[in-house]
Amino acid sequence: QEVTARKYVQTVYETVVQRNPHESEFHQAVKEILESLVPVIAKHPKYMENGILERIVEPERLITFRVPWVDDQGQVQVNRGFRVQFNSAIGPYKGGLRFHPSVNSSIIKFLGFEQTFKNSLTGQPIGGGKGGSDFDPKGKSEAEVMRFTQSFMTELAKYIGSDTDVPAGDIGVGAREIGYMFGQYKRLHGGHEAGVLTGKGLLYGGSLARTEATGYGCVYFVEEMLKSKGLSFDGSTVVVSGSGNVSLYAIQKATQLGAKVVACSDSNGYVYDADGINFETVKRLKEVERKRISEYVKEHPNAVYAEGCENIWSIPCDIALPCATQNEISAQSAETLVANGVKAVGEGANMPSTLEAIDVFLKADVLFGPAKAANAGGVAVSALEMAQNSMRYSWSFHEVDDKLHAIMKNIYRNSISAAEEYGYPGNLVVGANIAGFIKVADSMLAHGVV
Ligand code: GLU
Repeated sequence: QEVTARKYVQTVYETVVQRNPHESEFHQAVKEILESLVPVIAKHPKYMENGILERIVEPERLITFRVPWVDDQGQVQVNRGFRVQFNSAIGPYKGGLRFHPSVNSSIIKFLGFEQTFKNSLTGQPIGGGKGGSDFDPKGKSEAEVMRFTQSFMTELAKYIGSDTDVPAGDIGVGAREIGYMFGQYKRLHGGHEAGVLTGKGLLYGGSLARTEATGYGCVYFVEEMLKSKGLSFDGSTVVVSGSGNVSLYAIQKATQLGAKVVACSDSNGYVYDADGINFETVKRLKEVERKRISEYVKEHPNAVYAEGCENIWSIPCDIALPCATQNEISAQSAETLVANGVKAVGEGANMPSTLEAIDVFLKADVLFGPAKAANAGGVAVSALEMAQNSMRYSWSFHEVDDKLHAIMKNIYRNSISAAEEYGYPGNLVVGANIAGFIKVADSMLAHGVV
């Protein structure tokens, strides 16, 4: 059975590579998941008999569209917009929008594919989706960001809705952009359809603790991993890459739990602060002033700035939280982290470790929390935001935070027990993939061939 399952997985993977040429990130995500599904497929032939894998790797829909807008010089600019509606077996498509020059169909498909399993793991009724644009917000004026975002939503609005597809933020899309998109959607559709977007401002239907959710959730997840070995954040040294929404709240929560976060970064370089990174400074620099992280050292003279964001992984630490972007940890960086004694890695970003880097961590027995489990807190609270919108009611910060904490513990428990059950004790990569897959696959089986 094991051999048949392995062959089946290989055939499906080869078809994906053939059908989606030059989409290396999508191939990487598919490979990582399919390979870890071998034990579950071998044990349950129903997953080999109904074209489940062939269907699960093919998005239900990929929408690509033109986004024209006028810059401050009066020039017409054209960007490309995407929305992948990957899988709706367990609920409406759900997933963020990314505005970054690297965005293309490969990136959007890898993110949408991962999202399907992540969302399933949260235990909430949400399917997988993702979208975005190759628009680069860096250096754009407030007015340009608004015009671009409105144009983007003018097209996207045709495909979304509170029961069909519910976007949120991701890299380059925060509260400001969600606000502009919500405003534009409201003009186009009329009415106050609060549940059409999540990550909304608190004044118009957002959820308390949504902003903090991904970073806090990642730390809660790592806390569970640490506990299994009698370790904790208290007294440990932590490196967090990135300085966006995920990083910020990972820094805050890790610090609250008694850790010292000594470094964070942006796409140009990183800061090292032996006194512990100051959350308030980073938050103001990045979110209010929208400046580079290099400015940090002007306010904290003991800190040092170094060019080259990937060098952040040469800083010795007990816990590494990659919260920047895909493939930010190479095999070489992973080896450096291991040589420096890292005990746990929690992926706050989506797919921040290459396949080779994951191998290095697992072989060295480092506690490894894969993205779709460790960063699921953001989308989990998005689902709670949808629930509150449906009820026309809002929970307190503590109520939402408690629910988030319980969800992260649950994801950890379910992933650990799936890993155990299928013969990979302690391997959260395999466990999370299997636990996420089973719910989606069984729902697809229940729906017939669709
Ligand atoms: N972009 C986040 C993620 O990668 C959140 C998505 C959402 O809240 O819908 O999961």
